[in-house]
Formats: sequence, C-alpha cells, structure tokens
Amino acid sequence: MALPPLLSPLTIQGALTALNSGQITAELLTEECLKKIHEQDPNIGAFLETFDDRALTQARAIDQARLTGAPLGRLAGVPVAIKDNLLLKGELATAGCKILKDHRAAYTATVVARLEAAGAIILGRLNMDECAMGSSTETSAWQLTRNPRDTNRIPGGSSGGPAAAVAAGFVAATLGTDTGGSVRQPASLCGVVGLKPTYGRVSRYGMIALASSFDQVGVFAHTVEDVIRVMEVIEGQDDFDLTSQPLPDQPLAELVNTDLAGLRIGVPAEYFTDTMDPGSKLAVETALEKFKTAGAILVPISLPLTKFALPTYYIIQPAEASSNLGRYDGLRYGTRAPGKLSESYLTARSIGFGREVKRRIMLGAFILSAGYYDAYYKKALAVQAELKQEFINAFKTVDIIASPTSPAVAWKFGEIQDPITMYLSDIMTAPANIAGIPAISVPCGLSQGLPVGLQLQANHFAEATLYRAAAGYLKVAGYTPTIGNS
Ligand code: GLN
Repeated sequence: MALPPLLSPLTIQGALTALNSGQITAELLTEECLKKIHEQDPNIGAFLETFDDRALTQARAIDQARLTGAPLGRLAGVPVAIKDNLLLKGELATAGCKILKDHRAAYTATVVARLEAAGAIILGRLNMDECAMGSSTETSAWQLTRNPRDTNRIPGGSSGGPAAAVAAGFVAATLGTDTGGSVRQPASLCGVVGLKPTYGRVSRYGMIALASSFDQVGVFAHTVEDVIRVMEVIEGQDDFDLTSQPLPDQPLAELVNTDLAGLRIGVPAEYFTDTMDPGSKLAVETALEKFKTAGAILVPISLPLTKFALPTYYIIQPAEASSNLGRYDGLRYGTRAPGKLSESYLTARSIGFGREVKRRIMLGAFILSAGYYDAYYKKALAVQAELKQEFINAFKTVDIIASPTSPAVAWKFGEIQDPITMYLSDIMTAPANIAGIPAISVPCGLSQGLPVGLQLQANHFAEATLYRAAAGYLKVAGYTPTIGNS
C-alpha cells in the first residue's frame, strides 16, 4: 500500500480522510512517518528521540479497533509529536536541559494523555532551548535544530523542534509551549501555524514549568482547522491544574467561520517599528490589505504600554523561573553530584545548567531578594495589570489585534550572541503572555525568501474570533501548506 498523494504535506485532515476511507492503515502511516524521520531528521534535528515500538503498538491497536467497529477517538491514527518538556510516563523528558538528562516521567501530562485518549500516535519528543529559555533552540543541551525552510538558519525557539517537525512534514501536528512567544515565533520563522491559547484554557499539568503564570501549552500545524482539531482534544478544565478553566462546548463547524466581513482589526502602531525587518513589515501590511478587501475593517490603534512589555516579561519570567528551577538541586530532581550537601548542590547546578539558565536564575534571585522585590518584582506586577487593562480596553473597540509575530525572519546559526538582542526577538509576542490573552501566528508571505508570520491577538477566551480571523485570512490569501524548502 503506497501513501496517497493527499498526505503531502501531511495534515490532520488529510490523515483522517485517508484513514477513515481505508486508503491507509494507522500502522502504515506510522511506519512511513518514522521512516521519513529516520532518513531526513539527521539533517534537521527536530527529534531528540522517536518512540517507534510504542507508536507502532498503538497504531496497530487503532487499526484493530477500526476493524472490530470499536469507538475511535477524534484523532485516531494521526501522527503527532511533543516538546521535550511535556511528560509521557516512562519516557525521558529533559526540557532540553543537561541537568535532567536521565529524568524519566513518573506520570503523563494531561495534554499528552488527552491526545493519546483521542487516538493520536505520539512519534517522539522534540528539541527545545534549555528550560525553554531562548528564541533559536541553540541553547538546547543536546543538539541544533535546523530550519527546514533553510537549513543554514535557526528554526526559532524555544519550541524549535515542534515547529521544524511540522515544517519538514514529519508529523501532522505537534505540541509546544509558549511562555513569551515560544510557539508563535518558531511557527513564524518556520512557516507554519502556531497557537498560544488563553492562559487557563489548557492544563499545564505535566509541563515542566518555566514561568507558571505565563506558561501555556500550544499547537503547531499546517492549517487553523488542524490547530482546532488538536485544541478540541486538549483544552478544558483539569482537576490537576487549578488555573485551568471550564469551557462551553463549541463544535468545530461553528468555530470555523471564515467570513471576514465586518471583523474589526486593530492595527497597533507600536508593533510596526522602524528597526524591524522591512520585508516582514511589508508582508504583514500586504496581509492587512487582504483583510480589508475581504470586508474587514482596519482600525489604527495605539497600545502605548507595549514598550514596557519586554522589561516586565524579563523581570517576572526570571523571578518565577528561578523559583521553579530551585527543585533541580541534584537530589529531588536532576543529576546528583558527589560531595557534602552544599557542595553537591553547587556542583550539580554548575555542571547541569547552561549559561542562559544560570543568567536567569541569578537575575530572578536578585529580583526577588529583599530590597529589590518591591523595586522590581512588585513594580513589574503593577505594570502587568496595566498592560492587561490596556488590551481589555482595546478589545472594546476591535475584535482582533494584528501585527507581525517577529521583528526578524530566521537568522543564521550563531548570528545573535548578545542576550539582550535575543530577548528583543520576543518584543511582539511577550505582551500576550503578560496579558494572558490568546494569539496565533499564521504564514503571510516571504521576506528575503524566508517565512514571515502574521500575529493575531484576541480577548481572553475569544479563540473562536481568532480562528475566524486566521482561517479567513489564509483562505483569502489562497494559502496552501508546503513542507521543507519546496
Ligand atoms: N524567548 C522567550 C524566552 O527566552 C520565550 C520563551 C518561551 O516562550 N518559552 O524567555
């Protein structure tokens, strides 16, 4: 049995059609994806590990269930993969960190359990920046990940592996995590769709925490409809995460209204800077014109507090990270180092953490220390409240806020060395995490031959509006997914 042509590029919709019509079995699809990964991923480096036996066993069970007429989940037989900071019981989960090199998950993350319960086949775990700190995946303790659109360039980060795995056509969808942009920025740089849901829409249980008040699991796929298919499975309240919220039932058909007529699109001047890549700016402006042609109303808006978003993020995020990472002491978590207790702690952390993580732990500990707590941390929380209010006020007059996702296209390995310059790549994505609102990045053309992302932000829990704007745009833009550098 050969793979039907509708499986290139591999999408969830294509896979489900082929599986449900009997054109392909889950086992064959899994085998073909694994074969492709083994052949091609050495040149990309998206996967840290594939779960071949486990995946094939599950695929056979799905085929068997289909034969006997047993009920099948919504993603039965669909090949997916997960970021290395999401737990799957019994498998390694290192969050890209050396200190967690032998860490095997003792339980399964809610999002992963829900994917498996829906019949999705988890093919492996994907590379990321160490502890999810970074924007290029270069801080991974394990390997580089190459951008499938140009293998001399970074895929973005911290979810570089999940973005690259979809862009290379290895799996139909992946889960990443987004604390300051780590789903949207790599989606933008790799030319795929990436969603960061509203804070509280998706359970964080079993995600290795970076900054708990910003962290949110997100989805990469080739189409908005496919993102929704995954979201329908993973979202909703979870008893193990008290920040997760109950959601009303909204069937897919209702959510994929692609009509842009009358949609009010806010265009914030603060996101279109002179320092950004001019080609990206042009691509986003061209996308906005398409919204207008399709009947949407463009509304120039101002979000003056935007300039405080990045400094606020780089205070609250390291503060929470330094506290979350306290448990990696080589005793409770992490690789144990020899010596007396205090020596052992010191050695475990000195060897186990890379430079960026150490920088943030020091920064975070400083921010939280007596005397500086009020000056930095408390002040940042006050600014956070104002930023959130600024968004809420803006959404009284517009449905969506549109902007570029990233100030730059994918850069070459090693090109950005300075941490501040690296942090600046989060300038357009961090505000949504600070405010807790949902945001999506969709491909909107090329600059210098490289993908550009259009970011759409919506009010809390207004994902349906986000999906409408994103899917509507891709439709009027005549977007068809591609893989690799074709
Ligand atoms: N680049 C950002 C950082 O380094 C975002 C990280 C993330 O979203 N996980 O903090």
